[in-house]
Amino acid sequence: MEISLIDLKAQYNTISDQLNSVVLDVLASTNYIMGENVNKFEKEFSDYLGVKNAISVGNGTDALVIAMKALGIKEGDEVITTPFTFFSTAESISAIGAIPVFVDVNLDTFNIDVKKIEDKITKNTKAIMPVHIFGQPADMDEVLEIAKRYNLYVIEDACQAIGAKYKGEKVGVLGDVACFSFFPTKNLGCAGDGGMIVTNNDNIATLAKALRTHGSGENGQKAYNLINGTNEKLDVSNSGNDTVYNPLKYYNYLIGHNSRLDAMQAAILRVKLKEIDKWNDKRRDNARFYNENIKNESLVKPTEAEGRRHVYHMYILQSDHREVFLEYLKDKGIATGVYYPVPLHLQKVYIELGYKNGDFPNTEYLSKRTFAIPMYAELTLEQKHYIVDAINDFIGR
Ligand SMILES: *Cc1c(COP(=O)(O)O)cnc(C)c1O
Repeated sequence: MEISLIDLKAQYNTISDQLNSVVLDVLASTNYIMGENVNKFEKEFSDYLGVKNAISVGNGTDALVIAMKALGIKEGDEVITTPFTFFSTAESISAIGAIPVFVDVNLDTFNIDVKKIEDKITKNTKAIMPVHIFGQPADMDEVLEIAKRYNLYVIEDACQAIGAKYKGEKVGVLGDVACFSFFPTKNLGCAGDGGMIVTNNDNIATLAKALRTHGSGENGQKAYNLINGTNEKLDVSNSGNDTVYNPLKYYNYLIGHNSRLDAMQAAILRVKLKEIDKWNDKRRDNARFYNENIKNESLVKPTEAEGRRHVYHMYILQSDHREVFLEYLKDKGIATGVYYPVPLHLQKVYIELGYKNGDFPNTEYLSKRTFAIPMYAELTLEQKHYIVDAINDFIGR
């Protein structure tokens, strides 16, 4: 049997009629940028989370970049995050000229160790960026308490955690701003790149809306007024939601980005958003199945911390003999993935930050041991049994 880590075809097959139809509708409409599907998806997404504003952008990395710019984070500022995450988390901080300051993770949840944050706060620290890694929410009460005490922003990197809950609340509504990715393999994925910024703060939302479209038009001017404490007015009688023919699009107020969600992606995401709770429940069922049936004593299984609804973007095991184990599973036709093999503080590009091996023992330990086994909503019972049997059979080899 061949089992992939994530099977996008299996998902597509369950909703192909709907997807094909909405894609053709957008194609025929010739409205490809912004417009009805994007507006509706933003509304549906914000309703889903229970957050005031949702601003769609081109991808999750841009969501982080634009969110931080909207908060006014700039060159030389410091943002605290973890080195055990996808590169984008830190890259987005560097991309705006700010400095990622790393804090080690917990061994049980792989999330930021909140006991170690305060030591890293300096006069330049502007924000904490917890990552809800692999779909498990970080210790948000503690992060928010520290942020409040030191007057720092909290930016949730929720790219892997759509639908995850912390003490009953969905992630994305806990910090000042949160960012999501719709990369195809994320729990809610589109057919290309896509991302979302969410916030309850209307000013942050206005700035983010301006920044995603060249700092132009009505939002550009509103953002300009916010930044400069002015109250200039633009004649908006001719404006509308239509970006292509909006007469205000050639009035620019900020240096921004061109980072929007395509109408086609929004239409696809509108179909998929209706399924996300069901899909996440199935991921949780699969995780429970693995937890109950994997009996191989040499492996460490993932844990769900108290008060969390983990959405298992990845199901992560740990082994002292990872390479041998992965080779064995490959021979059995079972795909695996290593997340993350190189801690960010040891990435070549970050040599200049001055970190060295030994700085973050938990991250370094995990990076040598962790691996993901197949996890997606459509995994069949037969596949799950095959995977578990193969894993358990490894005993004694
Ligand atoms: C996927 C991901 C991102 C970036 O999202 P893209 O859409 O690929 O740009 C950022 N942070 C984390 C933790 C991610 O998993």
